[in-house]
Amino acid sequence: MGIPLSKVIDELRQRGYRLTPQRQAIIQALLDAEGTHPSAQEIYARVSPQFPMITMATVYNTLQVLEDMGMVTPLGFPGASTRYETADGPHINLLCLRCGRIDDLPLEELPELQRKVATDSGYLIHAAHLEYRGYCPSCRAEMEDERASAHTSA
Ligand SMILES: [Zn+2]
Repeated sequence: MGIPLSKVIDELRQRGYRLTPQRQAIIQALLDAEGTHPSAQEIYARVSPQFPMITMATVYNTLQVLEDMGMVTPLGFPGASTRYETADGPHINLLCLRCGRIDDLPLEELPELQRKVATDSGYLIHAAHLEYRGYCPSCRAEMEDERASAHTSA
């Protein structure tokens, strides 16, 4: 499902982007973490043992380039660190407002929705991002428990 590193590298080279081993390592770390929606700090932590010279600025700069290319989508909540995803199949992001978990939900209807958006708006769609926010199943269960125990202790 994920984007292969070679595809990202080809795209970057076509755009005349200089690809240092550090930047390649950052992209590889991002692709390896697919599905976990890592923050820039988490990506930095993955690459810094191998490349101690990498700075957070290089991580942010590389993420920005990938974002401009539409290969990376920043996700997150105001006030919390931005998380990044590389998943390229049509899906919805679900964000838990309580624990910060982010899930991907593939949805059959999304390509059709995108076609409708393109037709109705006249836009050539470059990237799409659908986000739902709420409470994940485990937080819902915990919230139920907390409510139940609040009742019994009262
Ligand atoms: Zn949660």
